[in-house]
Amino acid sequence: MATEAASTAPVDGSQIQDIVDEIYEKYRNVDDGAVATYIPELGKADPKDFAICLATVDGHVFKAGDIDKEFTIQSMCKPFAFQMALEQWGREKVLKHVGVEPSGDAFNSIELDPKSTRPFNPMINAGAIAIASLIKKDSVEAGIQAFVDRMSDAAGRQLRIDQDVLNSETLTGNRNRAIAYLMRNFGIIDEHVNESLHQYFAQCSLLVNTHDVAMMAATFANMGANPITGKRVFDFQVIKYVLTVMFTCGLYDYAGGWAYEVGLPAKSGVGGGIFGVVNRQL
Ligand code: GLU
Repeated sequence: MATEAASTAPVDGSQIQDIVDEIYEKYRNVDDGAVATYIPELGKADPKDFAICLATVDGHVFKAGDIDKEFTIQSMCKPFAFQMALEQWGREKVLKHVGVEPSGDAFNSIELDPKSTRPFNPMINAGAIAIASLIKKDSVEAGIQAFVDRMSDAAGRQLRIDQDVLNSETLTGNRNRAIAYLMRNFGIIDEHVNESLHQYFAQCSLLVNTHDVAMMAATFANMGANPITGKRVFDFQVIKYVLTVMFTCGLYDYAGGWAYEVGLPAKSGVGGGIFGVVNRQL
């Protein structure tokens, strides 16, 4: 049948590259918005930097723009940390510390679910700090290294923390500190509040480029295996929970609009990055 023939026809890579180039040209001169300055080090970013990268589960990569330019992952770390917490502790325990409901509020809202006293979801700062508290280790540096190692496997190259961004966020992160102490008050995180915050700030300060982020997204899409190295990075069994929460909560107070307009699980970060996942595809 015609429809079957269409769906099994080989993908023409040059057509996809043409589309990526077209989109790049269309949006490269958009200068809406502003770089984040509430973490002073992020204010040094050049708003003209722009790149698009699309990685497929069969290992094809299409790209345009400043593809190698590094920036910090910021909140794009949150789905991966949630994945690690689910793998380590299981669904039931993780759900005692964080919910899966959209909050409809900004990323840094100082608010917990009034009924359960949990953060609404792991994509807002409160939930991500609760998750960081779950995946940190007795040695703070070991907890950070475990995260960096996992992200490096997903990206397919060794990644590192931007110490200047980490210091900058540590010095100015009083709102996140307030959120963490509120959660400590309700017994959502343990007494090692500073260690949990350090884990969270370090996760956000991971340096990535656009190619890395595309490979991480493709690793989710590819049932947990990096499509180029073939390494199994994430447990397939829990990816579905992560993608669901990305879909409903990944864009904070724009999550509903994003789901309606774009319709993909996605996560943004104040470093300027955003990624989406087409499950089993790219
Ligand atoms: N590190 C940032 C913060 O906690 C992440 C926020 C974001 O990227 O949305 O404020």
